[in-house]
Amino acid sequence: MSTFKAPKGTYDLTPPDSAKYLAVREALSAPLKNSGYGYIETPGFEDVALFSRGVGESTDIVSKEMYTLTTKGGSELALRPEGTASVLRAALEANLHKLGNLPVKLWYSGSYYRYERPQKGRYRHFSQVGAEAIGAEDPALDAELIILADQAYRTLGLQNFRILLNSLGDKECRPIYRDALQEFLRELDLDDDTRRRIDLNPLRVLDDKRPEVQKQLVGAPVLRDYLCDACKAYHEEVRDLLTAAGVVYEDDEKLVRGLDYYTRTTFEFVHDGLGSQSAVGGGGRYDGLSEMIGGPALPSVGWALGVDRTVLALEAEGIELELPSSTSVFAVPLGEEARRVLFAKVTELRRVGVAADFAFGGRGLKGAMKSANRSGARFTVVAGERDLAEGVVQLKDMESGEQQAVALDALVAEVRQKLA
Ligand code: AMP
Repeated sequence: MSTFKAPKGTYDLTPPDSAKYLAVREALSAPLKNSGYGYIETPGFEDVALFSRGVGESTDIVSKEMYTLTTKGGSELALRPEGTASVLRAALEANLHKLGNLPVKLWYSGSYYRYERPQKGRYRHFSQVGAEAIGAEDPALDAELIILADQAYRTLGLQNFRILLNSLGDKECRPIYRDALQEFLRELDLDDDTRRRIDLNPLRVLDDKRPEVQKQLVGAPVLRDYLCDACKAYHEEVRDLLTAAGVVYEDDEKLVRGLDYYTRTTFEFVHDGLGSQSAVGGGGRYDGLSEMIGGPALPSVGWALGVDRTVLALEAEGIELELPSSTSVFAVPLGEEARRVLFAKVTELRRVGVAADFAFGGRGLKGAMKSANRSGARFTVVAGERDLAEGVVQLKDMESGEQQAVALDALVAEVRQKLA
């Protein structure tokens, strides 16, 4: 132990568990790479105003959870609390929406930061894989993203998750609903904080999990009853496309999500084995965000899936990912000359693409064989003075336990053939 520890609400990924995280990131992004989404990477911090304007001044994410800083040059920056605003900012800055056909489809993976009260599944530094489809208003695009997330979770073997689906309406119908909801909420017996929220962001009050609030919300106006014809038709088509794809979802009219920019389609993937932090991923349509951050009208849709919570969901379902060993050959030299010869062989193997490792540190045979075992290598190559005098090495198959002498010159070809 050093004097230092990982900051509160964070944790390190270390081998062997870190391999699981890599595999999860890979599985969550694989369907996107296969569906026309291009990779995008943006800085870990942005102008604070991007988030306050984009995500929304009244949201918890902006008002309570952002890590903000003032640089020596006087810029106000924030560690990114989410991906959508940054990706849209970057796409606009690079004029991606003008270069090719719309939609611009992008995927990303990275670290996000929120100053939240840490608990299981809720961290101050966490990891997401995300996707954004920018510049098209097409229900098939909303459906595509939901289908791809469903596919990603299923290829990992997850089963106990549900898809919650809702429509938040658009700039025509939502304000009318908002007025009706505010009128209803103002009559209720609520604390000052919640009262303020009625003015700022009344839909978020519906999301309040406290029983004393939920009890009073019975009979509240329901957004579905206020959707305009265009929003209704759009939502129906998303639902039909999901059904046609065999993706099962639940209509959840209370689903509002914590970000202000959503319009129309919103969805969340919840896992039933995770306790209170049950959302493993979520997203929706954000038709007004581009204009909110100074861009042209670009109706868009996206999602972000949490890597940390996906790993927890795998654990909750008892799923062990099959992770192939990263090392194929482990070399164990006995003596100085063998060190030089085998080190050269390891280099040669690596240069032809065989994953190989070496017993460093000059320990004895026993320690070196322990390292070989721990590496998960399929083969070990052992050589001492007598072997080298005969021009051979001992090649041991760690699965069958069989060992054979192989001519030094033939080793690389022999190993490649056996691994093929
Ligand atoms: P959101 O941007 O809040 O919709 O989050 C999308 C996904 O990111 C969630 O479903 C979680 O899986 C993950 N996530 C969000 N916040 C946290 C957090 N504080 N700790 C761990 N995962 C998080």
